[in-house]
Amino acid sequence: MDNTKKVLIIYTGGTIGMKNTSMGYKPAPGFLKEAVEAIYDMSRPDFPAWELVELDPLLDSSDMAYREWNKIASVIYENYNDYAGFVVLHGTDTMAYTASALSFILDGLDKPVILTGSQIPLSELRSDGRDNLVTSVMIAAECVVREVALYFSGKLLRGNRAMKMSADGLVAFDSPNYPHLAEVGINVKYNAPALYRTKKKAISFCPFSEVPIGVIKVFPGIQFGLFEEIMAEKLSGIVLETFGAGNIPGGGSELLPIIKKAFASGSVITVCSQCPSGTVTLGAYHASALLKQAGAVSGFDMTTEASVAKLYHLFSLGISKDEIKRLMETDIAGELTEL
Ligand code: ASP
Repeated sequence: MDNTKKVLIIYTGGTIGMKNTSMGYKPAPGFLKEAVEAIYDMSRPDFPAWELVELDPLLDSSDMAYREWNKIASVIYENYNDYAGFVVLHGTDTMAYTASALSFILDGLDKPVILTGSQIPLSELRSDGRDNLVTSVMIAAECVVREVALYFSGKLLRGNRAMKMSADGLVAFDSPNYPHLAEVGINVKYNAPALYRTKKKAISFCPFSEVPIGVIKVFPGIQFGLFEEIMAEKLSGIVLETFGAGNIPGGGSELLPIIKKAFASGSVITVCSQCPSGTVTLGAYHASALLKQAGAVSGFDMTTEASVAKLYHLFSLGISKDEIKRLMETDIAGELTEL
């Protein structure tokens, strides 16, 4: 291992550095640093050089939103030339959202940014945080993966394809619609054809603005009329989580006029699937055929997490609604498989 390649570890909050209090787990300033310094591997001479910064305030990741995503990205952007790679220690609950957001905010990224965390705090027995941290730093220093990725329990995943799959299992993440970037056992086995390479010449920082985004999950018996006001007047970007390949109850008869109205007022409605794996194919069934006609776009095999982040990104660019619609159906950071 070339330990001249320095890695910047950014602690944002999350279980990995949390302390157990009378009111449950909470991040505490300085607490993670102590636990990290106690890990023998982190100070071995053959381990990559690293530095740790802690964000203020440290958060449970359920409190993270676009401002925090911008802040994490700005720390990476401002330190981009001084480090070989970056490790972002983050709560698991919304890690897939942050990973997706960073993949859009850091346009043209050509270095490793590895998000990780743990289900058991580093300071406790049997913490999964030790391997997650040590391996993430090694992967970040190696620079084989040059994109936003998420490492957890032996799997390296593309950040904007990842999903949290388990609330209490240690194998908590997967990317059902994209091959793993690496499998980590005795060795790190990279999956070279799956790795993303930017075509951009340089990195640029594209922060998100405050955009009214909503996710609506379709369920049997949904009364779309109840959502008319928020869809047509309040939200700009809407992710519609539909059944299977993009189907909605009633073939869209109740929803279509709402979509048309929402579209006319500048909203973009993206159709995703509630199934973790597979793709949306608008028109495969009568139950989805009219959605596209009304102006909705297909999210194909994008996760809801990536779709939300992509809507923030595209609306923040200040481009036209037609361009947003076109780009929602186009792969721009490895987040979607174009048919
Ligand atoms: N609630 C915690 C968080 O997301 C859970 C975790 O880190 O595992 O910050």
